[in-house]
Amino acid sequence: MEKIFVTKSTLPSYGEYCELIKRIWDSHWLTNNGELHNSLEHQLSEFCDCSNITLYTNGHLALENALAALNLKGEVITTPFTFVSTTHSIVRNNLTPVFCDINTDDFTIDTDKIENLITEKTSAIVPVHVYGNICNVEKINEIATKYNLKVVYDAAHAFAEKYKGVNVANYGDISMFSFHATKVFNTIEGGCLACNNEDLKKLLDRLKNFGITDPDNIDNIGGNAKMNEFQAAMGILNLKSLPENINERKKIFMLYRELLKDIEGIKLSSLNEDIEYNYSYFPIVVTDEYFTDREGLIQNLNEIDIFPRKYFYPITNEISCYKDYNFRGLTPIAHDISQRVLTLPLYPGLGEENVKKICKIIKEKR
Ligand SMILES: *Cc1c(COP(=O)(O)O)cnc(C)c1O
Repeated sequence: MEKIFVTKSTLPSYGEYCELIKRIWDSHWLTNNGELHNSLEHQLSEFCDCSNITLYTNGHLALENALAALNLKGEVITTPFTFVSTTHSIVRNNLTPVFCDINTDDFTIDTDKIENLITEKTSAIVPVHVYGNICNVEKINEIATKYNLKVVYDAAHAFAEKYKGVNVANYGDISMFSFHATKVFNTIEGGCLACNNEDLKKLLDRLKNFGITDPDNIDNIGGNAKMNEFQAAMGILNLKSLPENINERKKIFMLYRELLKDIEGIKLSSLNEDIEYNYSYFPIVVTDEYFTDREGLIQNLNEIDIFPRKYFYPITNEISCYKDYNFRGLTPIAHDISQRVLTLPLYPGLGEENVKKICKIIKEKR
């Protein structure tokens, strides 16, 4: 039996990919603003309705550069209910993360708790559109304006989404999207930053290429995080099939919701009518009264070769590399949800039968 993982990477047809990368053999141009790179960057600008997009070799280095570009100091308010990359990018910039708790219904940062955490040292907010649930961007913008803070969204999960008709790339000072193999849109490894002005884009372009402005001038102490032509080729082809991909995901997502909606002991993420989702994840939260242990449920699913993931557990302020850090900010809700959350398989081609099988096991475990 084929093993079913939480996701399955989207690939174009083998023939199509070979056809496109043939151009690389013709040009002998592998990286550094190649033809395919520039074409993808342009296409993504149009797709996101955002004129300042810069491609990266992965989402994590993009996020590190976003924080570096804004010249931040001191403390950054963020959420621990995310992939470790968010917190690492803050700490690796010599900034101090201050953790804010999350909402119980959509798992994004609880904007009512941000202001209490602000001090003279606070320079930015780094919220996460976790599972593609868009944060309360209006309230975050209001707080950022009032206290003169920068906002960098970890939008790794939110590519192609819209909030109130506006592509999510257009909120905050900078948004980071990940194009990792496991994400809804992939360039093998990859990512991009979307920002709100041209000078900032130019700075980001330099930071990912050693700070080089032109052959005679190196104006920043940059690293190397450029996207290469093979990645861009994958992106160009996967972008074409993205609408269909999202449509397929939506069908599976809705079937899960239908089958799991009235089961006592299972909480689903809330849906917001203002959001056009990409349907990239299907988290469920099991409640203590009905499920004695999440591990037992995982085991039952593993027995029939189904492998859900404990996204996100542990929360980042509880992972071992940060055990001596004594971070400020209490996050009991994030802690509690991380103990009980399980992310189910979701990808085009998963098949109705498999979804039904998974839901049946979940009901039995109850
Ligand atoms: C995937 C992910 C990242 C990192 O992106 P990479 O492209 O894998 O480097 C950062 N934050 C979140 C929330 C992610 O899910």
